[in-house]
Amino acid sequence: MSDAVVVGGGPAGTVLAVLLARRGHRVRVYESRPDLRRVDIDAGRSINLALATRGMVVLDEVGVLDRVDPITVPLRGRLVHAPDGTCELQPYGNTADEVIHSVSRSDLNAILLDAAEEAGAEILFRHRCRQVDLDSGRLRFETPEGDRLVDAEVVYGADGANSEVRRALVEAGDARVRVDELDHGYKELTVPPGPDGAFRLDPHALHIWARESFMLIALPNPGGDFTATLFCAHEGPGASFAALDTPEAVETFFASEFPDLVPHVPDLADQFLAHPTGSLATVRCRGWSHGDRAVVLGDAAHAIVPFHGQGMNAAFESCLVLARHLDDHPDDRAAAFAAFEAERRPDTDAIADMALDNYLEMRSGVIDPRHVLRRRLALELERRFPGRFIPRYAMVMFHTIPYAEVQRRARRQAEILAELTDGVTELDQVDLERAAALVAAYDAENRARTADADWTDIRAGEVARGRITVATDTQGGEGAT
Ligand SMILES: Cc1cc2nc3c(=O)[nH]c(=O)nc-3n(C[C@H](O)[C@H](O)[C@H](O)COP(=O)(O)OP(=O)(O)OC[C@H]3O[C@@H](n4cnc5c(N)ncnc54)[C@H](O)[C@@H]3O)c2cc1C
Repeated sequence: MSDAVVVGGGPAGTVLAVLLARRGHRVRVYESRPDLRRVDIDAGRSINLALATRGMVVLDEVGVLDRVDPITVPLRGRLVHAPDGTCELQPYGNTADEVIHSVSRSDLNAILLDAAEEAGAEILFRHRCRQVDLDSGRLRFETPEGDRLVDAEVVYGADGANSEVRRALVEAGDARVRVDELDHGYKELTVPPGPDGAFRLDPHALHIWARESFMLIALPNPGGDFTATLFCAHEGPGASFAALDTPEAVETFFASEFPDLVPHVPDLADQFLAHPTGSLATVRCRGWSHGDRAVVLGDAAHAIVPFHGQGMNAAFESCLVLARHLDDHPDDRAAAFAAFEAERRPDTDAIADMALDNYLEMRSGVIDPRHVLRRRLALELERRFPGRFIPRYAMVMFHTIPYAEVQRRARRQAEILAELTDGVTELDQVDLERAAALVAAYDAENRARTADADWTDIRAGEVARGRITVATDTQGGEGAT
């Protein structure tokens, strides 16, 4: 069993630490920040996150799903706020289990730090990795007491999108990296609880103000507050962070674009001008490892934009895939690392693309009648042909079908939906006989292609039911659309 150093104690580093420690490795996790269980620190970005089925499967494997339940709020769909203040719920799925879970980033991280320690990992905080020598396995950490040198047999880089371990892989000639910065950024605002501690907006929906070139979303936290996030261009004459630089500009913009939110955030302009503007990027890396010495995973290997709520879920899944390859190659770690990337990179490339696509869906698709019709038809086809037609969103969020397979299926499904809605404005005008024939052919293609596949599809209900709370007032399907 190896002497493993994990750099980074975020979602990926902590889950990996549990999986390695349970397999008998000596595990030390080095985290640059203080211990967030003891010191109240700003998590740095996105206060809450959407947890999806594939992430929950991993949390179940790690043994913390029951502990996570109290810090989540289930969301049954998107509540789309029109400029005139009216709202429309667009359900995420067809069943009560098909909900996403809003979870506090720092509370979840705290649970995972506990789990890593319980599994036997040692966690050292305030240790910022500054250098990795891949040949000797020596790492240099900056600490409040000065620099510290640490020797490792194997280095797991779970140190996020600006990974120091990845930088060492690049310098050694193992990795090639492309960072695609998005020209849109984000800013978070807190919508406080109402006077009696109650939620000011429906707590069981993801609120979305889609305005085509920008959008605002709000996710609830268990304490009664919401985290609202504005996504818009960094620069430009219209809605841009550069243009929103005075209290008057901020107040005018919010009053005209999000009038129904304004009364709920009394200190809106103060928050807006005080909070940092975050950047978003996709990191595409080729060459995740250096022999049997080092490997990167999570955002360090595959950071994506947040519009499908999948970065952390994907990071969790990558930990499980890596652990499986280590099990499959007990005497050849280099082969395990290579097999891990060979299996996983097509999937992380696919979710990177789908996450970018979903920005368009969120900021303009949800208010485009043709898109809304296709989405309603997708849910209808799933009701009529269960298991044979699964809407793309559900395949990503409520199933564990590998992302690359989801992407392939989603492309074919988009063709089917386009054909069935051609010249149609209402769901009841769709030719259902034609739909049955198209779905039968599509299903046969899928079965033929995946006959020998070694993955299994775990659905939302299979992991959630009885383990994690779903909204009791969930109304899936037609009635709620
Ligand atoms: C606005 C926004 C919203 C998001 N929403 C969602 C969502 O809804 N659902 C979802 O699944 N994902 C979401 N994500 C993505 C998610 O945050 C990341 O994919 C996830 O945190 C990746 O986990 P990680 O452990 O790989 O990296 P990180 O979370 O970045 O963790 C890396 C850890 O390493 C530490 N570290 C960094 N550098 C060093 C160093 N040199 N030495 C030592 N330690 C170091 C950091 O302090 C941190 O603790 C969102 C991201 C953003 C920006």
